[in-house]
Amino acid sequence: MRCEVVAVGTELLLGQIVDTNSSWIGENLALIGIDSLFQVKVGDNFGRMEATIRQALERSDAVICCGGLGPTQDDITRDVIAAIMGVEMVRDDTIAEHIRDIFEGRGRPMPENNLRQADVPVGAATIAQMPGTAPGLVCPLTIDGEDKVVYAVPGVPHEMREMMEGTVLDDLRRRSGETSIIHSRVIRTWGYGESALAETLADHVESLDESGHATIAFQASGIEGIKVRVTAKAESHAAAEKIIAAEVELIAEQIGDHIFGYDDETMESVVLGMLRERGLTMAAGESLTGGILATRITALDPNMEVFRGGVVSMVGDLDGEDGATIAARAARDAIGTDIGIAVIGPSDPDAHPPGTVFAAVALPDGDHAKTVALPGVLSRIRSYAVITLLDLLRKRLDPAD
Ligand code: ATP
Repeated sequence: MRCEVVAVGTELLLGQIVDTNSSWIGENLALIGIDSLFQVKVGDNFGRMEATIRQALERSDAVICCGGLGPTQDDITRDVIAAIMGVEMVRDDTIAEHIRDIFEGRGRPMPENNLRQADVPVGAATIAQMPGTAPGLVCPLTIDGEDKVVYAVPGVPHEMREMMEGTVLDDLRRRSGETSIIHSRVIRTWGYGESALAETLADHVESLDESGHATIAFQASGIEGIKVRVTAKAESHAAAEKIIAAEVELIAEQIGDHIFGYDDETMESVVLGMLRERGLTMAAGESLTGGILATRITALDPNMEVFRGGVVSMVGDLDGEDGATIAARAARDAIGTDIGIAVIGPSDPDAHPPGTVFAAVALPDGDHAKTVALPGVLSRIRSYAVITLLDLLRKRLDPAD
């Protein structure tokens, strides 16, 4: 079963809002094993919307339209669908009553236009969940003798999700007869370039492609590192999990401690977790990064239970790994923590390759420092420096050697 997503709204084309709805829908279709080969965006224009939905119906069995269900004149999704179905619209009295009630409840007069939202193409069913005033639609239709379906859900993300989860996904699954599910896990890595990582795993990916058990995709994600997504299709969630767990183990054997976490974990959440587990407190010295590290860490440790404080300071003539180590110890001693970490730039940048930074961690059992040359412009170097420093700490807290 193929399902296409049509996101409606001129503001999507103008870049005024980002089309997060299509990404969410894509992910959730994959999870129930439904192929989604196209996602399209179209402005609020009758002719272009009609052409887009018709084209989607030619190559897919189901189409989900999101957006354009509101009360204003440019909200025309339901009119376009009625035209494609070749039917009139009728006003649904129950929905009209519901909309009147909502306005009465808010103590506001109802603009007559809002009743347009109670208009339903003949033959369509309405979707019961109505967090807003617009009902969603399930519109069965026949194209060249084949049964197809068009769904209409609102553009407002939480309203869209409620209708998708409450009605559309179940309806799609029932129509598809699909019993397999697709599940994926993201391996978070740091320290590899995308091509180097792909090269390291190349043989493995090739043998996977042949066996067809799972697929692997690489996604370079800036300071979030490179994400490796392992996806498996199976008869049950547990079976998919089993395939993925075996895969992840094989990958971990090959790239080892480049893996810092999984799925939604971030470098800072992982490091904080390790410190918490070990009952350690930390302080940071920052010059080059001007407090970026403190900002990122305190977002996850707002009461500063683990990260007790940071010092943003000019480092004067401190230089090199030794200078970074002195800064790390100074932060630790000034704030009185178990661990101090610091990252500094060279005092004479011309004497080093562009992007050179020195990172150091002062741990109860010794100091460790590292020099790296980071790519890009200053803002990028600063962000990368933070992750490089946290990664150094992570590896020292859990040394593989
Ligand atoms: P309602 O009936 O609740 O007015 P609607 O179906 O008319 O919803 P739109 O008017 O198209 O929806 O969009 C309403 C708002 O929803 C937009 O201003 C935007 O903030 C958000 N939105 C719309 N489409 C998307 C999308 N594809 N991704 C993310 N947000 C979206």
